[in-house]
Amino acid sequence: MTTLDLFADLDQGDLAEKAESLRRDLERYSYAYYVLDNPIVPDSEYDRLFAELKDLETQHPELVTPSSPTQRVGGAPLPQFGKVRHKLPMLSLMNGFSAPEIQAFDRRVATELGVDEIEYDVELKFDGLAVNLRYENGELVGAATRGDGSIGEDITANVRTIGAIPLRLASQNPPRVLEVRGEVLMFKQDFLDLNDRQREKGLKEFANPRNAAAGSLRQLDPMVTASRRLRFFAYGIGEADGAPVHETQSQLLDWFITLGVPVCSNRSAVKGFKGLMAFYDDILSRRDTLSYEIDGVVYKVNRFDQQQQLGFVSHAPRFALAHKFPAQEMLTEVLAIDVQVGRTGAITPVARLKPVFVGGVTVTNATLHNEDEIRRKDIRIGDTVIVRRAADVIPEVVCSVLEKRPIDATVFVMPTACPVCGSPIVRPEDEAVARCSGGWINCPAQKKRGLELFASRKAMNIEGLGEQLIDQLVDKAVIKDAADLFTLDVPTVAALDRMAEKSAANLVAECQKAKATTLARFLYALGIRHVGETTARTLADHFGSLKALIEASEEQLLQVEDIGETVATSIKAFFADEHCLALVNRLVANGVHWPENETEAKVRVLSGKRFVLTGTLPTMTREEASNIILSHGGKVSGSVSKKTDYVLAGTEAGSKLEKAQTLGITILNEAEFLAMVKTKQPTESENNY
Ligand code: NAD
Repeated sequence: MTTLDLFADLDQGDLAEKAESLRRDLERYSYAYYVLDNPIVPDSEYDRLFAELKDLETQHPELVTPSSPTQRVGGAPLPQFGKVRHKLPMLSLMNGFSAPEIQAFDRRVATELGVDEIEYDVELKFDGLAVNLRYENGELVGAATRGDGSIGEDITANVRTIGAIPLRLASQNPPRVLEVRGEVLMFKQDFLDLNDRQREKGLKEFANPRNAAAGSLRQLDPMVTASRRLRFFAYGIGEADGAPVHETQSQLLDWFITLGVPVCSNRSAVKGFKGLMAFYDDILSRRDTLSYEIDGVVYKVNRFDQQQQLGFVSHAPRFALAHKFPAQEMLTEVLAIDVQVGRTGAITPVARLKPVFVGGVTVTNATLHNEDEIRRKDIRIGDTVIVRRAADVIPEVVCSVLEKRPIDATVFVMPTACPVCGSPIVRPEDEAVARCSGGWINCPAQKKRGLELFASRKAMNIEGLGEQLIDQLVDKAVIKDAADLFTLDVPTVAALDRMAEKSAANLVAECQKAKATTLARFLYALGIRHVGETTARTLADHFGSLKALIEASEEQLLQVEDIGETVATSIKAFFADEHCLALVNRLVANGVHWPENETEAKVRVLSGKRFVLTGTLPTMTREEASNIILSHGGKVSGSVSKKTDYVLAGTEAGSKLEKAQTLGITILNEAEFLAMVKTKQPTESENNY
């Protein structure tokens, strides 16, 4: 929609009122974000309203007021802190969201400077809090937040607790005055750890690393700041006296490094629009592997003389632009809350959402996990909610925006009967999950989800047997359980919707191929509750044959490493169930087979060793590395603790690596790791036995 379309039918009074209402909303949101460190709407919503106000003011300059959010920077300082007047203002950045906007910026800069191709220093846009560090004769004498750009808060005592910030510059001959500007931020892992601790203590959790960083820094008690793990990256200079003259931003940042001031290594000098976009694309593709959150990249004309020539607008430099990434959080509405039935009968409430484009895809549903979660987050049907989707992560409803709650918003009530088979839904007192009591024999939903697991890549790996085909096979009663997959014939499959002779023949062939499997895959495919891929491997390893496992007593099961009572009981219950046992027998009768008793012979070089993976490995994915570890008897866990034996680290390894170093844990690179497993990557049969 163009600007004209938006405002065309409003008269002058309406326009003024519209501008005023946008300002009021933006001010309220800014106050919550900058002053209280507790935002009420996602950044995308703020940016949308801000862009709307900006458009309106561009169309009608008479509506601009000096206090309009478009003319100002940040928020007012908190009165509890001492105030610091910045010698040079701390400004914001202009934003661009799309390639045409970036091209226009590059063209404007090139035209104004009369240069064909501009060199830019390109950096990450850290999602933290801007601070000014003041060094006099090399000593840190003051630190302030950006505040409203002119006046910030004196946070010297807090900043002195941040290990990453040098209290003294590493120079024999430091400048008389040097103000370093940069971002204080919290790494993702530190943020998760902090929220874990907050939860344990029953304290409020932080919405995101930015708020956690801001909230930790703007503390009246520096001891609190000291207990939080904050970091710092420098990106600019304020007042300076006696500092060497640098010609470019890149040189300035290189100099900071020599002074012991942290500067992020993800930066570069590039030429022209193409160079900018290549940097943007590269960083966007690596965004999730970074240890810290960024909300875009920043382009700065590299040469300082050219920067000066371009100058400033009221609240931002004209020589720089923040190229923001697509939003990972958006506002939308909960249209309904339905329930889904899982493989084990678990009933999962799912929010049906008004379609919203977030994190690069259109999201229409988001799981709400269980009843308690809905109650804890107080999400109601009709609510406006913040939906978050980071790349490769399932969409999540973060919270409801209470101020937008309609009066007729309704509370979710868990149904009493399974929506698929009608069996009663039961919820044991000590469990969070409610379940359909029908079981996979009676409940088609459970049967279908079980078949999906059975056919999946890490189980029987039946290629081409997806959700839609399974739905048809069950709904049309072509199969009654997994064993029937191995007696399917081509004409029967070809008669299904969207199937033809060739695709039917392929599916039948895939089913036949899948008969030759491994015991571990077979056990995983059965979908025994609490028996995931790793446990299935452990069981196959330990017992060596299906017969031995079926005959194992609960005591014998409990002797297996990592098998506790819940798992042992579940395994016993599975094989004691006549339907389950009949299914297993029919699967074997229909030709499913695997080599037995293979495992003892194999040398398990990593037996019992606990690994943690971090960073990007040069030649393999983390999943591949994990498979090698598991297949050699090792274990993989997500976080570093005293129990960790090895950390396998690649590039961009973050806080896990640091923690490992602190704990004195052996750190391996990929080459060392491969040498350990004698570079012999397991074959398919070894990998899965
Ligand atoms: P900004 O955060 O978009 O950009 C300016 C800031 O970028 C600087 O002050 C600095 O702190 C930071 N920055 C990070 N890396 C940098 C680098 N390499 N070089 C230079 N600066 C770098 O602008 P702003 O004025 O601070 O805030 C506006 C943004 O804040 C909005 O776009 C919005 O997303 C968010 N906001 C959200 C709400 C809300 O309610 N959710 C309210 C107010 C503002």
